[in-house]
Amino acid sequence: MERTNKELQARADRVFIGTYARYPAAIVKGEGCLLWDADGREYLDFLSGIAVCSLGHCHPVVTEAICRQAAELVHVSNLYYTRQQTELAELLVAHSFADKVFLANSGAEANEAAIKLARIHAGEGRYEVISLAGSFHGRTLATVAATGQPRFHRGFEPLPEGFVHAPFGDLQALEAMICDKTCAILCEPLQGEGGVRPLEAEYLQGIRDLCTRKGLLLIFDEIQTGVGRTGTLFAYEQTGVVPDIMTLAKALANGLPIGAMLTTDTIAASFTPGTHASTFGGNPVAAAAAVATLKTILHEEFLPGVQVRGKYLQDELLKLVERFPALLSGVRGRGMIWGLVLTEKGTGLGSEIVKRMFERGFLFNFAGNVALRFVPPLIVSEVEIDQFLAALAGLLAEY
Ligand SMILES: *Cc1c(COP(=O)(O)O)cnc(C)c1O
Repeated sequence: MERTNKELQARADRVFIGTYARYPAAIVKGEGCLLWDADGREYLDFLSGIAVCSLGHCHPVVTEAICRQAAELVHVSNLYYTRQQTELAELLVAHSFADKVFLANSGAEANEAAIKLARIHAGEGRYEVISLAGSFHGRTLATVAATGQPRFHRGFEPLPEGFVHAPFGDLQALEAMICDKTCAILCEPLQGEGGVRPLEAEYLQGIRDLCTRKGLLLIFDEIQTGVGRTGTLFAYEQTGVVPDIMTLAKALANGLPIGAMLTTDTIAASFTPGTHASTFGGNPVAAAAAVATLKTILHEEFLPGVQVRGKYLQDELLKLVERFPALLSGVRGRGMIWGLVLTEKGTGLGSEIVKRMFERGFLFNFAGNVALRFVPPLIVSEVEIDQFLAALAGLLAEY
C-alpha cells in the first residue's frame, strides 16, 4: 500500500478527471485548526475546506453526533419523517426570518431549489433572475448561468435561459434590467469567491426596496456567509435587510454534505408535493451533524468570541497593509472571513503566495483573482492568528 504524498498523488492522477489543480499533499488527519498529510507534515488551516469546517476539524460534538446517528439510521426516503431533519429545520426557522425549509445536499442544489421556487411562485412568463457581476452561485448549469463571472461560463454555452447580470454596486443599472420577465434578484450579502467583497448595507437596502416595489423575490445566497462565518448566525442580520429566500450549505454540518433553502410560509406554498425533491436531502446523518453544529454555534458565548477574534484578525491584517503598501492595497470582510487585496491585478502573485505558504505549512487560497482569502475555523485562537500572520509577513518581506 502506498502511503506517501507522492505515491497517493500518482495513484489519484491516474484515475481522476483533472477538474482540480491540487497541491501535492494527501491529507490524512485533522484536529481543530490543524491538518496532517501522508508524510506527517502539519498545516495550520485558514481555508477550512473552503469555509466548511467552521468548528474546526473533527469537532468532538459533531463527530459524536455522526457516529451515534450512523449506528441508528443512515438513510430513509423523504417519503417518511425523521426526527433529525425536523430538529434541524426547527432550529433554522427559530433563528432566522424563515418559516419553512427545504433540505438539499450542496450549495448549488440549494440555489437550484431557490431558483425553481422563485419561478413557480412568479408564474408563467416570469422566469428571469438577475444576479450580480462577480458573484458565485455554483457549478450546475443553472447556477453557473447565475454566476456573474464569465470564466465559469466558457465552453458550456448555451447556458440555460433566464439569467442576467447587473454591474456590481450600481442600483440604477440593476433597476434598468428589471422587465416583465423578471422574478427575482439573487445576491450574496458578501461575495466570497468573487474576492471577499461585502455589499454595503445601503446597497442591499436599495436592492430590497427594488424587489418590494417591483414585486420580485430577494434571494440571499448565504452558502458561504451563513452559519456564523460573518460573526452573526446569518450575514443578513448585520445589514437590516431581510430576504424572501435564503440558501445555506458549506458550514451547516461542519463538513458533511448538506444544503438548505429557507423561505416564508406564503412563498413556500408554491412548492407542493411532487414539484421538487431530493433523494439524499436532509439525510439523518448529515442532519444530525447539522443540529450538533448549529447548537454549538448558537451557544451564547460562541459568536461574540468569533467577533472579537475576527476583529483581531482584521486589525493584524491592516498592519500588514501598512507594512507592505507596494504589495497590499486593503482589507475587506466581516467576522471571520477576510480578504487581503493585492495591488497587482491577475493571478500571478496571489497564487504564488498561496503556494509558497502551503510549502511552509499554512493553508488558505486566492479568491476572485484579487484577494488572499482567510476563512479559518471560527474557533481559531489569537495565538494561531499570530503564527499564521508571522509566516505571511515573513514571506511578504521576501518580495
Ligand atoms: C460554495 C458556494 C456555492 C456552491 O456550493 P456547492 O456546495 O459547491 O455546490 C454557491 N454559492 C456560494 C456563495 C458559495 O460560496
